Order: sequence, then C-alpha cells, then structure tokens
Amino acid sequence: MSEISTDSRAKTQARPGVVYLVGAGPGDPGLMTARALELIAAADVVFHDRLIPPGALDGAREDATLSYVGKAPGKPSVPQEEIGKLMIEAAKEGRSVVRLKGGDPFVFGRGGEEGEALRAAGVEFEVVPGVTAGVAASAYAGIPVTHRDDASAVAFVTGHEDPEKAETALDWDALARFPGTLVFYMGVKNLARNAAALVAAGRDGEEPAAAIERGTMGGQRVVVATLATLAAAVERESISAPALIVTGAVAARRDQLAWLERRPLHGRRVIVTRARAQASGLATALRGLGADVVELPAIRIEPRLDAAEVRAAAEEIGQYALVCLTSPNGVRLLFEALSAAGRDARSLAGATVAAIGPGTARALAARGIVADVVPERFVAEGLIEALSAVEVSGKRVLVARAADARDVLPEWLEGKGAEIDVVPLYETVREQPDAAAVEAAQGADYVTFTSSSTVRNLTEALGDRFPASARVVSIGPITTEAAVEAGLEVAVEAERHDVDGLLDALLRDAEADSGP
Ligand code: SAH
Repeated sequence: MSEISTDSRAKTQARPGVVYLVGAGPGDPGLMTARALELIAAADVVFHDRLIPPGALDGAREDATLSYVGKAPGKPSVPQEEIGKLMIEAAKEGRSVVRLKGGDPFVFGRGGEEGEALRAAGVEFEVVPGVTAGVAASAYAGIPVTHRDDASAVAFVTGHEDPEKAETALDWDALARFPGTLVFYMGVKNLARNAAALVAAGRDGEEPAAAIERGTMGGQRVVVATLATLAAAVERESISAPALIVTGAVAARRDQLAWLERRPLHGRRVIVTRARAQASGLATALRGLGADVVELPAIRIEPRLDAAEVRAAAEEIGQYALVCLTSPNGVRLLFEALSAAGRDARSLAGATVAAIGPGTARALAARGIVADVVPERFVAEGLIEALSAVEVSGKRVLVARAADARDVLPEWLEGKGAEIDVVPLYETVREQPDAAAVEAAQGADYVTFTSSSTVRNLTEALGDRFPASARVVSIGPITTEAAVEAGLEVAVEAERHDVDGLLDALLRDAEADSGP
C-alpha cells in the first residue's frame, strides 16, 4: 500500500543513529519549521516536552515511539541526565531520534547541555532552530523587540535563576543600563523581585513593560503597564506561566501595532469535530482567523482496501462508464486501491468522472483527473441534477464512497437503469474523545459539524458533557437534519456545503453576534 512507500520515503529524511535537537516553536502550530515537520514525520523515536504546539506529533509515523519526558506541574520530571541516557541509548540502537523542545532548543532550552552529553557519548547530532518565544510572543502581542526609534538592542534574560545558586548570575546594574529591550523568560514568579532589582539599579520604573501569557496560542493574553507597576497588574489579571516579560519603550508600540485582537474570530473558541486526518485544513483556517481551536475528532476513517468488492472494483475499473466520488477521502482511497491493483489514473480514461463538490474535484485534480461533472449544490441531490444529462441506462456505474452514506444517489442511478456497484472504500468509526479536549470544549463559542456522522458520534460520545454554550454550525442540510435529530439547535447552516462555505457561515454569525 502506498502508506508504506510514504513511510520509507519519510524515513530517509532522518539518519539512523542521529539525534536531532529540534525547536517546535512557541505554540502556534503554524510556526513550526518545515525541517521540524519533516524530521517528526521521519523519526523512529520522538522525545518531547510539554510546551509543544497542539498536533505537533500528528505527522509522526504510526510505528514511531513517542515519549513524553517533560515536566508536569506537581509531578516529578524526568531528570536531565535520564533524558540524555534515553537519547543516547536510542541512537546507539541505530534509531533516528528527534528531541523536540518548545521554542528554540538553544534558548533556555538546555539544548546545549544535551548536545554536550551526546558529543561525550560519541552520538552524532544536528540542531534545528525554532522560533523562540521571546521573538514570537512579542510579535503576536504587537511588540517589535527592536525599533529604529526605541531599541537598537535586545537581551534575552532568564527571570528564574536556579534557586540553588548562592548568588544570582544576573548583573542587575548591567541590565539596568542595557540600551534596549529586555525580554525575560520564566519571569512571572519573580517578577516583583526582578522589577524592583532593575529599578534599584537605575532602570526607569516608568518605562513601558508588558507580560504576554500563552503567546501565539489560542487564548493569548497581554497586560501592559510600566516596569514599576507590571507585577501588580500581572497579579490582578492572574497571568501565569508560560508567560514572557518585555520591558522597554517598544512595549508601548502595542498601542499602534496590536493585530491579533483584530482578527475576525479573536477570542472565540471553536470546536472542530472532523476526523483528525482531515481536520487540519479547517483547523488551520480557523486559527488563521484568530479562533482558539479545540480539536475534538468525533470520527476516524478506517480504510477497507482489503475488502473483496474494493479489489474487484479496482480490477474492473476500466469497465465503468461512470465513476462517482463523494468525498476527498473516497478519491484518496480509490487511488490507493488502484495502485494496489497495479493501475493508475489512466485506467479512468474511458469513464465519465463525477465529483460531489469542489473538495472532491480538487482531490481528483491533484491526481491528474479533471472531473467531468461537479454539481452546483454539494449534496447527493445536487449530483443527481448534474448527472441528469448523462446516459447511464445499461451502463456500469461505480459509486465509491463511505460505508454509511445515504442511498439517494445509488437508488436514482438504479432507477435510470444503470448497472451499479456501490463500493464502500472506508468506514467512519467513532473516535473516543480525549479528556483534555472535552474539558477545553466546555466553554466553546462554536461547534462545527461537517457531516451527519460527526454529529451523531459526538453527541453520543459526550452525552451531557456536550458544551451547551456552543452555537452549532452545520455544513449543509443533511448535517443539520442529524443535528436537529440529536436535539441540537443549529445556529447557522453553510450556503456552500464545503469547508469554505462553513467558514463563511461561521464568520457571518460571529460578526452578527459581535453587535452593530
Ligand atoms: N526554548 C524556549 C524557552 C524555554 S524556557 C524558547 O526558545 O522559547 C520556558 C519559558 O519560555 C516560559 O517560562 C516562558 O517565559 C517562555 N515561553 C515559552 N513559550 C511561551 C509562550 N507561548 N508565550 C509566552 N512565553 C513563552
């Protein structure tokens, strides 16, 4: 199957026996580097910290070992020495190892120490820089860490000195005199003490200062005050880790440069219920609009490529006069089935190919097939309308689709005298909801449904944990019907029954909801 060839291609990206010290960026999954994603997809083993972006490991190989070695609040962490040992062991077994850390591995990330331990053990390593929080959280808060008028230098400073150190390693006099922006990592707990030390050493207590909590992530919060008053403001707003402290004239630039809060879905928590493998497009688009996305997949796609009828359809593909595809998943799996039968796109040369909507048509186009029929309305009834001009009587027709799909299209084709094969390429099965995601979903503003099976599975799986606050956004009439049947009130239904249409509908509703 093509999964296997993808895997082996991915594997060649990471050398066996090598440890990659990889930065995962500050939290927004979009700020992971191309190299980080490539290595995660290739690695045999991933050792990761807590502060990595949501979904960072989604691209890992199914047979990879994913191992959490970070600290959890209130629990003992894996000691640094132990992490070193684990990495060395895995590398010496000839495995490719990714050590994934928040932000940049060499900026307060102990990447230096880990590299030294690896070198001492004779293990090869590479370093993949990440976008560090000091730069990224500031940028997302609308604070440029340097500015022609305000700051010609920037210093990254730890706000959390090792408590075992007898004396602080920080030179407060030098920091007070530093001609530019000071960015404190790990600086919330000691903020009052550190700010006082700076002011005592001569830094202006009136200079603008900001605290940025969960920078670049959904729910980022920013507090701006002065160096002298920031600690009180942070206390009042209960800002907690992870947070960054930025002090210097640039902090006031936020007045002009804040942009995150201006995005249309800022401050809205939106639940995405699509299967994990398909969710990323919708989730990415929502994040781009500023939403705080909770991925709560209700279903999972289980391919049925070994089923006899799937193999038979692939063998006989050249005999169909009409091939109907009703989802991008269907397209992907049909081509996998063809490939397993030693065939490719050319075997569809003689057939009329129909796609239920533009997403399905795009999936076909990506494989070199321009769909002959794409309806105006992206439901089975729309496809029927669009097919009315196609002569199917006495011809062989393939409907390649999900196992639990509606029978409207096959029944219509049968009525027209077609010799029809309905071939389920996959089943959609219920995904057990993740407890943390269910928790995060509780305060949600919106829940998005892209199919009736997501509605049924999520409502049944959550029961009375279904977030009552969330307005329901439905992709189309069939999904709406399922939602109403499940006892939900649908706030808004997409006019175009695809992901873009769903986004439009949600945006419209959010705009109306935010007042005139
Ligand atoms: N290597 C990381 C830093 C690790 S130290 C990097 O390069 O970003 C952990 C500290 O980083 C936290 O205490 C906090 O001060 C800061 N930090 C990490 N992620 C952050 C985020 N998303 N928003 C604000 N601060 C963050």
